[in-house]
Amino acid sequence: MKICKKHWAMLIAAVKERGMWHLVAADGQTAMENTIAELNNEEAPYDPLMACNWMVFHRGISDGGLYFAASDLCPICEAMIHTANVEFPNPDHPDQKDVYTEAQVESFWTNGPADAALQVCQEKGLVPSKQ
Ligand SMILES: [Zn+2]
Repeated sequence: MKICKKHWAMLIAAVKERGMWHLVAADGQTAMENTIAELNNEEAPYDPLMACNWMVFHRGISDGGLYFAASDLCPICEAMIHTANVEFPNPDHPDQKDVYTEAQVESFWTNGPADAALQVCQEKGLVPSKQ
């Protein structure tokens, strides 16, 4: 699984829009060292971009299955292919059908994790509560 360039750029933009860019590791090697530290239960700075990455990976495996983990597929592109323009019952009106556009699916997968990371940053006092 690998987030494609377009969707990685959208995640970066979402993190920047929410005022969290200063918390992102300076480079990929630092981000990976921080991830390894976290996996070893060691102190590591909260990185909202890596948090978004792991949220997308988690959701990709949850929705798409473990085969996804070993693939080069972008989970956001796959979600757009398989869930956009698919009718589903409206939760408030089960007799009616709703459909998500590709843009809505893309927004769900990029803005959703960024909003969750912002909430974590606010709870940790890393960014102001109101921006
Ligand atoms: Zn993609």
